[in-house]
Amino acid sequence: MVAQDQDYEQRSEKTADEEQCYDLLIIGAGPAGLTAAVYAARKKLETLMVSVNVGGQTLLAAGVETYMGFQYVSGAELVQKFEEQVRQFPIAFAIGEEVTDLFAEDQQFAVRTSGGKRFTSKTVIIASGRRARSLDVPGEKALIGRGVSYCATCDAPLFRDKDVAVIGSGNPALTAVNELSSYAHRVYSVVRNTVKADPVLVDRTKRTGKVEFLAGYAIQEIRGTKRVEGLVLRRLDDDKVVDLPLGGVFVEIGAMPNSDFARELVLLNERKEIEVDCDCKTNVPGIFAAGDVTTAPEKQIIVAAGEGAKAALSAYRYFVMVHHE
Ligand SMILES: Cc1cc2nc3c(=O)[nH]c(=O)nc-3n(C[C@H](O)[C@H](O)[C@H](O)COP(=O)(O)OP(=O)(O)OC[C@H]3O[C@@H](n4cnc5c(N)ncnc54)[C@H](O)[C@@H]3O)c2cc1C
Repeated sequence: MVAQDQDYEQRSEKTADEEQCYDLLIIGAGPAGLTAAVYAARKKLETLMVSVNVGGQTLLAAGVETYMGFQYVSGAELVQKFEEQVRQFPIAFAIGEEVTDLFAEDQQFAVRTSGGKRFTSKTVIIASGRRARSLDVPGEKALIGRGVSYCATCDAPLFRDKDVAVIGSGNPALTAVNELSSYAHRVYSVVRNTVKADPVLVDRTKRTGKVEFLAGYAIQEIRGTKRVEGLVLRRLDDDKVVDLPLGGVFVEIGAMPNSDFARELVLLNERKEIEVDCDCKTNVPGIFAAGDVTTAPEKQIIVAAGEGAKAALSAYRYFVMVHHE
C-alpha cells in the first residue's frame, strides 16, 4: 500500500516555486500528465505540474466504459480518482496556468505562463492533449455531454436506437458514422460540400442501410433545452432551412493538438502533433511527450495514461544518465 509508506507521508500540497529548478516539469494534467506524475514521484523526481486544469478532455466524457477496473464511470469521477492518487505524492502544482512558451537554456528548460510565471526544470514531459474543433454554432457548447459529442468511439453505445447526425466529411467522420450505425436507429452524415473519405469507407457505410447522406448543408444551430432535440440546417443551393429531429450530434471536423507553445523547439508533424518515438522521446534530449498531443496513435484515456507512464520512466532514465551526480 503505497499511500501508507513512510516515504509518501509528505501529503501537504507543495506550491510551485519559481526559484527552484525542478527535476521534471509536466505540462498538462489530463490522464497522460497525471499518470506521468505518479511514476515520477515514485522515482523521487522533484516534480512540478503546470496545467490549465486537472482532468483535460476526460472531464467532457459523459460515461467511460473503456478504462480497466471500471465497467462504467463518468469522466468527472475518473478524474477525481486520478487526482486523489496523484495528490498523495509530494508534487508541486501550478493549476490554472497556461504554458505559452517552452524554451531551452543552458542545461535546462524553462516555461513561461499566461499568468506571468516562469518555471525551470532539467527535464520536461509535454502532456497538453488536444481540443476538438468546434462548429461554433448556437446550442453546441451548452449541450456538450447532453447529446453533443466529439468522440464516437467513446460515446456511440450511449445512442442506442436514437437518430443521430455526424458532422464532417473526412475519414474520422465516416468512421464515426460506421461506429454509430451499430447502435443508432438512423445516422445522418451531414457535409457542407462532398464526402472526402476513402471510397472503401463510404461503400461500407452505404451497406449498413442505416445511413442517410445530406450533402450541401450548413449547420445553423443545435437545438435542445436539456438535451439535443434536433439540428437546424440551411440548404446551400436555395437557403431553405430544414429542422432535423435528433437525439445526438457528433462533431467530427478534426482536433487541434495543444502544441503551439512548443512549436519552436520540438518537431511537429503536419497535424501539429509532437513527433515521439516509442519511448516518448521528442527530437530534443530531455523533452518527452505523451498522450493526445503526440503522434502516438489512438486518442483514448487508457492509451494516454500508458504513454504518460512510459514518458515518466524515460524521463527518469535520462535524468539519471545526464544530471545525477
Ligand atoms: C467528449 C469526449 C469524450 C471522450 N470519451 C472517452 C471515453 O469514453 N473513453 C476514452 O478512452 N477516451 C475518451 N475521450 C478521449 C480522451 O479524453 C483523451 O484521449 C484523453 O483525455 C487524452 O489525455 P491527455 O492527457 O493526453 O490529454 P487531455 O485530456 O487533453 O489533457 C490535457 C491537459 O493539458 C492541459 N493543457 C492544455 N494546454 C495547456 C497549456 N498550454 N499549458 C498548460 N496546460 C495545458 C489541459 O488543461 C489538460 O489538463 C473522450 C474525449 C472527448 C473530447
